[in-house]
Amino acid sequence: MAENVELPDGTFPTLDKAQIARLMPLGEERHLAAHDIVYDQGDAEHGVFVVLSGSVELVNIVNGEETVLMVHGAGKFTGEVNQLSGRRSLVRCRAHEASTLLEISRANLQRIMQNDAALGEVFLRAFILRRVYLITNSVGDAVLIGSSNSADTLRLRAFLSRNGHPFTYVDVEKDSDVQTLLDHFDIRVTDIPVLICRGELVLRNPSNSEAAECFGLNTGIDEGAVYDLIVVGAGPSGLAAAVYGASEGLKVLVIESNAPGGQAGSSSRIENYLGFPMGISGQDLAAKAFIQAEKFGAQIAVARSAAALKCAKPPYAVQLDDGGSVQSRTLIVASGAQYRRLNLPNLAQFEGVGVYYGATSVEAQVCSNQEVAIVGGGNSAGQAAIFLSTVAKRVYLLVRGPGLSATMSRYLISRIEACPEITVKTFTEIEALEGNGHLERTHWRNTKTGERHTCETQHLFLMTGACPNTGWLNGCVEMDSKQFIKTGADVREQWPLQRRPPFMLETSLPGIFAVGDVRAGSMKRVAAAVGEGSMAVQFVHQVLAE
Ligand SMILES: Cc1cc2nc3c(=O)[nH]c(=O)nc-3n(C[C@H](O)[C@H](O)[C@H](O)COP(=O)(O)OP(=O)(O)OC[C@H]3O[C@@H](n4cnc5c(N)ncnc54)[C@H](O)[C@@H]3O)c2cc1C
Repeated sequence: MAENVELPDGTFPTLDKAQIARLMPLGEERHLAAHDIVYDQGDAEHGVFVVLSGSVELVNIVNGEETVLMVHGAGKFTGEVNQLSGRRSLVRCRAHEASTLLEISRANLQRIMQNDAALGEVFLRAFILRRVYLITNSVGDAVLIGSSNSADTLRLRAFLSRNGHPFTYVDVEKDSDVQTLLDHFDIRVTDIPVLICRGELVLRNPSNSEAAECFGLNTGIDEGAVYDLIVVGAGPSGLAAAVYGASEGLKVLVIESNAPGGQAGSSSRIENYLGFPMGISGQDLAAKAFIQAEKFGAQIAVARSAAALKCAKPPYAVQLDDGGSVQSRTLIVASGAQYRRLNLPNLAQFEGVGVYYGATSVEAQVCSNQEVAIVGGGNSAGQAAIFLSTVAKRVYLLVRGPGLSATMSRYLISRIEACPEITVKTFTEIEALEGNGHLERTHWRNTKTGERHTCETQHLFLMTGACPNTGWLNGCVEMDSKQFIKTGADVREQWPLQRRPPFMLETSLPGIFAVGDVRAGSMKRVAAAVGEGSMAVQFVHQVLAE
């Protein structure tokens, strides 16, 4: 480990004798000679190792070169958040000298998490702090070579960041060492973005699911099983359902087409969620919820989409986009909504290279000291304007209506008014986009005066509301005219059961629930989504008991 790096308390705690005594019945002793490998970078499914005597070293391997990060002596233990999900190890662990270790299996680790609150907290805190250390120091098995002018580079950076997977990013536009790396792996500049996985596998412009496969993000998903509960979508509502379901003993699988967090994951700062007076970034909130769900044993598949539903009778079968299928006795639809796109003929060619649908630190990095435009008058547009004004030279907020008061919370309007870097343009609509490879300028028009304006902005954020992700349900459940899912009292006429009315949040099919933004009449807020996801689990129990 680099010298002088201060780690927060609890990152590498030493277990005392009493704590080790509590662990002894749950583990198996392993005796190792000096330099024996305990587990290698890329290995999955091994347990946590507590050092009983001797010591082990943790080694980072990049392009075949080893760096010893740290040495753990007696009382220390290995592992980080990957340990909870059985994902592949990001580092190699090797006996530093002849040592005796106690291996605690993943199943027993989960038991400790659930039954021994004090010891569980020691492990969980250490795992989270270690993951933060790995991300901050780009330690791990992934190198991404890309360009700030490539939409696929942005996609992969966002995918890895939102999945909390540490990676080293090398930008061909800026990094002078890049040629050596490209030569080492025999990569042409035209191949980028390129993802190097565990120093050996070179993926040329991989899809998110290929990246997930390479890093083993979906290990342990049991396609042959019938789950108690499948949750489709890992936004705030789906993650809440996963936490409540798994913590109450249900066998839960979450299917997420991208990365945990949903729309909230693209928010730079959520300030109205209970318990976070200073606000919290959507990514932070999602990362915490994701770990919490895994702590209780929920399985979470990322970069895999529900493509269709077989709903003739329970167990319901969710068909996945890769051709697989998973079954469950109950289902919570938490697939939320996606951004509405502007009706501009060449919009697609600038998506990711000048046109964005979220304003997180990844997008902010490319806007530093530049002019940016944001389209939208809602809270998400307001948050983005305030966040981007901290890095951009000027932020134009383009709204179709006469002002912000009808669509945005007062606290955001006050901050926008007080921020000299933000200019609000009312009655304004985008007419055309222009650029060669990357967005170079945006043309807009004042619909009241007819005046036209060309802005040399290379960064346009579209935050104009959302449509529900319900296409995959292929008509199984009743929806309203805008394709949001009807629930509870709204489905009574189509309800098939005589013996009971639908539960609140239950769709027109018994045992299938809809929560969060995908539900007709929902509040479109994080707290409401979390509340509905948690509540639905109570009804799931009742359906399972029927
Ligand atoms: C930029 C922005 C800022 C916001 N700020 C705030 C705020 O400050 N406060 C607030 O209260 N609310 C805020 N909101 C609103 C809030 O984020 C949403 O209400 C909330 O995220 C809804 O949660 P959800 O779980 O219902 O759906 P979503 O967040 O939409 O999550 C749905 C998830 O399902 C996945 N999915 C979709 N289809 C499939 C499929 N077929 N298979 C598998 N997975 C699928 C998606 O990838 C997504 O991850 C903001 C929204 C945005 C966009």
